[in-house]
Amino acid sequence: MAIIIKKFGGTSVGSIERIRSIAQKISKEYQSGDQIVIVVSAMAKTTDELFSLAFQISDHPSRRELDMLLTAGERITMSLLSLALQEKGFASISFTGSQSGIITDSKHGNARIMKINAFRILEELEKGKIVIVAGFQGVSTEKEITTLGRGGSDTSAVALASYLSADLCEIYTDVDGVFTADPRIVQHPKAMPEIDYPQMLALAYNGSKVLHPRAVEFACIYDVPLVIRSSFSDKPGTTLKKLLDKEKNMEDRKITAIAHKERLICYTLDKSDAGLFREFGFEIFKYRIKDALVSIFFEEKYESEIRYFLQQHNYTVRERKDAVGFVILVGIGINLDLSFLAKTIELTEKYHPLEISHSERTIEILLGSDAVVACVQDLHQEFVESNSKNLGV
Ligand code: ADP
Ligand code: ASP
Ligand code: MG
Repeated sequence: MAIIIKKFGGTSVGSIERIRSIAQKISKEYQSGDQIVIVVSAMAKTTDELFSLAFQISDHPSRRELDMLLTAGERITMSLLSLALQEKGFASISFTGSQSGIITDSKHGNARIMKINAFRILEELEKGKIVIVAGFQGVSTEKEITTLGRGGSDTSAVALASYLSADLCEIYTDVDGVFTADPRIVQHPKAMPEIDYPQMLALAYNGSKVLHPRAVEFACIYDVPLVIRSSFSDKPGTTLKKLLDKEKNMEDRKITAIAHKERLICYTLDKSDAGLFREFGFEIFKYRIKDALVSIFFEEKYESEIRYFLQQHNYTVRERKDAVGFVILVGIGINLDLSFLAKTIELTEKYHPLEISHSERTIEILLGSDAVVACVQDLHQEFVESNSKNLGV
């Protein structure tokens, strides 16, 4: 009997109709004899709404209370889905992260999974029940409720899949899989039937929110069979692979996909203040170090909390830049052939990039936030839609 983990994101469970339709989908598969664990996100927009409620009460809500509040979103979905299954005559039970035995460290808002003791899930599976788990949350070793960072339900699902040695972990979302760029902004995105871990990691870390980066790390380290697919269609989606087809991919240097991030703020601090990062706890997108200064890039929505933290600790922001963003080209071997760099410089000139840098699998363009979408569209057209091998022309 196979164990299958299915994770449903916010849009996939965004209304009562959607929850009923997911229940229908799950019940069909359950009847084929598999053991099924469902991981759910909060219903669409719920987490943002809960977040803003907290800020209506306080400009600086404590991170512990924020976690108590935000975890309520996933509790709503898990119980509604369980009720929908029970209405159809199926035995199901819902568990919070804590009841599921997801043990984390104490970093509220961005906790790390230390271990999993999912004996209650195993007991209920043995009884033949469909188990529904609230994603994005756990309990710390100090018995406090924690969250895993925004988008963290993917990580809950992959972590459970690894603990249960699941035969498959399916991440159901609102698009047909991983595309060559965000399908919401480019005209002719291509769905990728498969992608290897290093490139998926590069996309996830660089803003392609279709998969939480920690979920990819988990899947890679613990060899979890992972598929990303749509809950709105029957398309097969994208499979994460350790190895791709040798014939097709041997030393095939090309831009595989493009990630992007808009609306970032950059604070520049003294490098001598680096000790602050031990206490920091906020998610940052990237950092840069130059001479005696450290620049951190983070999402606009975190600014008031970060500013407050820095003030509390008497750290001085040397420079503040707002409305910046990144466009990030991802591909294997693209920095071993500088014609990729040449073409990137030529194509991005009109967007007045503030900086171009690279890692082993990325070329990263820092630019004004307003130019990000047009830049992705242009680069996608040139590198992905046209034949990207003609780099010299
Ligand atoms: P969920 O709520 O299911 O977790 P998310 O909103 O977190 O869904 O992630 C899915 C979204 O990721 C898509 O709607 C899409 O706009 C965005 N996205 C960004 N880059 C990509 C990409 N390369 N491929 C697919 N989706 C992408
Ligand atoms: N509900 C959480 C969020 O919106 C976690 C998730 O959806 O993965 O970030
Ligand atoms: Mg997500």
